[in-house]
Amino acid sequence: MCKSQGIKRVSDIDLPKYRISLCKEHYSEWYRRRIQKTIKKYKMFSEDEKILIAVSGGKDCFALWHSLVKLGYEVDGLFINLGIEKTSEKARDIILAFAKRLGRDVHIVELKEELATIPSLRKIIRKPTCSICGTVKRYYMNKTARDLGYDVLTTGHNLDDEVSVLFGNIINWNIEFLKKQYPVLREGDGFVRKVKPLCKMSEEENRIYCEFNEIIYFKEPCPYSKQATSLKYNALLDQLESEFAGKKLDFYSNFLKKMHPLLNQRIQKKEVGSCEICGEPCFSNKCSICYIREKLDKSYSV
Ligand code: SF4
Ligand code: ZN
Repeated sequence: MCKSQGIKRVSDIDLPKYRISLCKEHYSEWYRRRIQKTIKKYKMFSEDEKILIAVSGGKDCFALWHSLVKLGYEVDGLFINLGIEKTSEKARDIILAFAKRLGRDVHIVELKEELATIPSLRKIIRKPTCSICGTVKRYYMNKTARDLGYDVLTTGHNLDDEVSVLFGNIINWNIEFLKKQYPVLREGDGFVRKVKPLCKMSEEENRIYCEFNEIIYFKEPCPYSKQATSLKYNALLDQLESEFAGKKLDFYSNFLKKMHPLLNQRIQKKEVGSCEICGEPCFSNKCSICYIREKLDKSYSV
């Protein structure tokens, strides 16, 4: 039974991790309360700031966008059209329909016009596709949010994403990356503030929120996702979670509470410069996108 607010109703979902059972309505309220708590705890943004959410059409970003709008925040969407056959165009249609339902704007960056599509880039750049894609998305998300005057950029990274990245960074002792793994990256040096309000919500909790709120999202996986190492880490961590409910949340929360402050004290901040070609912030003379652009130019001239 759902016993929220002293009213007994037949529950629609059991959450053993939190030892509660909830009906649809109270699940949605509980879910949004948890997001609001994360926003406040990490001082992500306030009610009067302009927020841009990066959307792929998937359940996580849609659950977050819907929740933030319901919580009273001003949030527009940003879709980076990666030009991936069969999926990007469908995702775009779903995003436009959802933005209409929410009554919010969507900005679209066409990678084909800005640089080249992901299928073209992966033929030229000798790096894993997801690594190229991540670099490209980070560049255009930051540039678009800043140029359009948004105070903050939010993404739908969920607990499962964060835990698998954390696990990968620990396995490889990537200290620099561990330091950057925090729900908020403050603005400055040409970077906008970046936040992850879903960092403590699991993929499954986001899926349930979409289901209970009749949110239609894009379900087809990216054709390149099979190559992502994080998926393999995720499978291992899912096994751990099935044996010990709540372990992922403990692992991540304890990292933020106990380990991250130590890393913050001890590791020096890297100097941020600007790209000598495009002027965007970067850590060497030339940014990754200008490096990619040079490679593209060379490949076209062969
Ligand atoms: Fe990009 Fe990889 Fe995600 Fe596909 S799975 S959208 S290639 S990061
Ligand atoms: Zn550049």
